[in-house]
Amino acid sequence: MGKDKVMNAIEASKERFFGLAAEIWNRPEISYQERESASLQKATLREFGFHVVELDRIQNHAFTAEFGSGSPVIGLLGEFDALPGLSQKVSTVQEPVVAGGPGHGCGHNLLGTACMAAATGLKAALETGCLKGTVRYYGCPAEEQVGKPVLAQAGVFAGLDAVLCWHPADINTVAAYGTNASVELVFRFKGVASHAAQVPHLGRSALDALTLMSVGVEFLREHMPQSARVHYIVSSGGERPNIVPRSAEGHFQVRSPRMREVLPLVRRVVDVAKGAALMTGTQVEWEVLHGCHDVLPNSVISDVLYDNLKSVPLPVFDAADRDLAAGLAAYSNDDQKRATLALFGIDPASVATLIHSPLHESIGYWGVGGPYRRPRMSATCPIWPRPPRSTPPPGRSGSVRTPGRPLPPRDRGSV
Ligand SMILES: [Zn+2]
Repeated sequence: MGKDKVMNAIEASKERFFGLAAEIWNRPEISYQERESASLQKATLREFGFHVVELDRIQNHAFTAEFGSGSPVIGLLGEFDALPGLSQKVSTVQEPVVAGGPGHGCGHNLLGTACMAAATGLKAALETGCLKGTVRYYGCPAEEQVGKPVLAQAGVFAGLDAVLCWHPADINTVAAYGTNASVELVFRFKGVASHAAQVPHLGRSALDALTLMSVGVEFLREHMPQSARVHYIVSSGGERPNIVPRSAEGHFQVRSPRMREVLPLVRRVVDVAKGAALMTGTQVEWEVLHGCHDVLPNSVISDVLYDNLKSVPLPVFDAADRDLAAGLAAYSNDDQKRATLALFGIDPASVATLIHSPLHESIGYWGVGGPYRRPRMSATCPIWPRPPRSTPPPGRSGSVRTPGRPLPPRDRGSV
């Protein structure tokens, strides 16, 4: 039976993957700099007998690892990038390893690791002949920076019959919902520097322009689709307050459930930037850094995944896990406490506010308790060949949600 082969193979190698998740955790590398994380994964996959193809010519640290032949060709996406500023020891209190350094606050030390485990499980089933086809793991850099469109443009995903991915969260579920389309741009304003006290009338402040642009975007919000989002940061705003800033730079990100809504909104944001430049006598140039279309959920595959997910035992939290949760909760304020307990399935409160935050709870969780259970859940739910269900599966069962049911609105974009 193919499922047994897959499960047994993963079970037999689980310590290896636990260790790999910990190694990547201990070597956090931000997007496009994942040299060691990618090397660790490639070395492991070679040891497991996969044919590894380096794709650095397309994108640094990208690769594929393949086993088998013929169809179907099933892809598994793996990522491994950390986030800036989230350096953290495995601890129940906030303790950066390197102050200001990167850390895995989004569970990406698990993403690729679990998909690798799934790939090795499928390989074991292919070797016995009970399954036929090809399994292809994708080492995908820069999940936080929308790295995959570059790979897609290069045709790396051609020939796939299906491709699966997952992400750590506070629930075990099949994510049968789409994600936002997104475009990120940088706006660079150029003005004229001058002494801010002696000759301010001779200056033209690039920072004024960027500030007015951000105000314009705030007023834009009322008149854009409710589901759309615009985020921004000021990445450069001058050197000294007594110098009228000659240059200023802002990064803006526009998101909406559909790309057809994003693109007109991007044009309106550009118009706001032009208006800000006109008002301040400055110049502006903009550049699209990257973008990606919305994810289209596949209900047939989701049903198959859900069926398999139900067959995998839920994680059992032991006394050490609960001690950890208690330690984290003791350190937290009320909001953090609710979110922390939710991570351990103790409280149904949403944990979404922790994702991508520097709060140590999320970081400590992924580093201590999470990696050693959640990857197993994910790795043991690859797609197994089975006829799709003709009727919707039953509703909630434990912490598993029914695919196809819209989840609460949640900005689950890819960064
Ligand atoms: Zn993430």
